[in-house]
Amino acid sequence: LAASAPRRIKPLDQSVVNKIAAGEIIVAPVNALKELIENSVDAGATTVDIVSKDGGLKLLQITDNGHGINKDDLPILCERFTTSKLKSFDDLSSIGTYGFRGEALASISHIAHLTVTTKTKDSDVAWRALFEDGKLVAPKPGQAAEPKPVAGRGGTQITVEDLFYNMPNRRKAFRSPSEEYQKILDIVGRYAVHCKGVGFSCKKHGDADMSLSVNATANTVDRIRNIHGSNLANELVEFKVADSHLGFTAHGLVSNANYSVKKTTLLLFINHRAVDCYPLKKGIEQSYATFLPKGGRPFVYISLEIEPHRVDVNIHPTKREVNFLHEDDIVDKICEAIRSKLAAVDTSRVFMTQT
Ligand code: ADP
Ligand code: MG
Repeated sequence: LAASAPRRIKPLDQSVVNKIAAGEIIVAPVNALKELIENSVDAGATTVDIVSKDGGLKLLQITDNGHGINKDDLPILCERFTTSKLKSFDDLSSIGTYGFRGEALASISHIAHLTVTTKTKDSDVAWRALFEDGKLVAPKPGQAAEPKPVAGRGGTQITVEDLFYNMPNRRKAFRSPSEEYQKILDIVGRYAVHCKGVGFSCKKHGDADMSLSVNATANTVDRIRNIHGSNLANELVEFKVADSHLGFTAHGLVSNANYSVKKTTLLLFINHRAVDCYPLKKGIEQSYATFLPKGGRPFVYISLEIEPHRVDVNIHPTKREVNFLHEDDIVDKICEAIRSKLAAVDTSRVFMTQT
């Protein structure tokens, strides 16, 4: 067959590019929520309240009492790569905050209706701004595309409505709002365990009762008790491990040999970001194999801090996975620390039953 002439290469429309990029970062409502929680925590909030409707597809609202956003910054808030957290590429290697690419709000504005209401402590009023496709838009036809003064408390409220309204295929792929809500509760629960000093609540729109509610003053065990129950909270052991050569410290709370469930729960934070690490999960399950009945699985919460220059947080659009140096060695050290804790608890139990 004779090759036909190649088709000409043309740049995609900017609005198409923005939508594609946004859809890679925000795959489901839970991805948007994770970014919004991280923003609230970055803003120094001590309360973070979440409301969701239809699994976050109809409405996702998050209200915090953080430092707010300056009115003068609102016009560029949802432009891509605008951030208060990162100035140079080198900053990526020492990043202390959750966000860092200035992409989250921009992305959301390309695939949902976004409303931001915010008040700094220097401002007498709160400012409300609506965004579409990265830009400020008028609240009503005929009005100016600018922030409007409203009554409000210090902090920020972000309202995301009709997520994926302009991506019908993505929208159709969500069959079950309750499944999406479970993912929302899962991520809120993770941050609620990890973020000491921050209170969290989460509920469905229209419900009187909270699905989850944790006080700002609660300690970590009480946070776990609140979210995962006393059966677990009464069977937790604390562990700590550090290695200056490998450049990490880790601590956490793990279930002891009295506790056994069908599926592992691993709440893993690397440099205060909720992430997945498959090798660590496997290592932990192997470590518990000798302590739990056959098929039994543990609950494990780990806060792992690695020197920032050894971590590449930028390998994945949703930032769910990270790469770090000496992964195998660090996984081994953590598993060893957990095993020796389990063994110690086990022998003390044997000792107690003997006397
Ligand atoms: P990034 O977090 O990567 O900077 P985002 O798009 O998530 O990018 O947010 C852009 C900027 O908006 C942030 O750098 C921050 O200055 C501001 N911001 C976003 N959410 C909040 C919030 N809840 N409270 C205060 N400031 C916020
Ligand atoms: Mg952010």
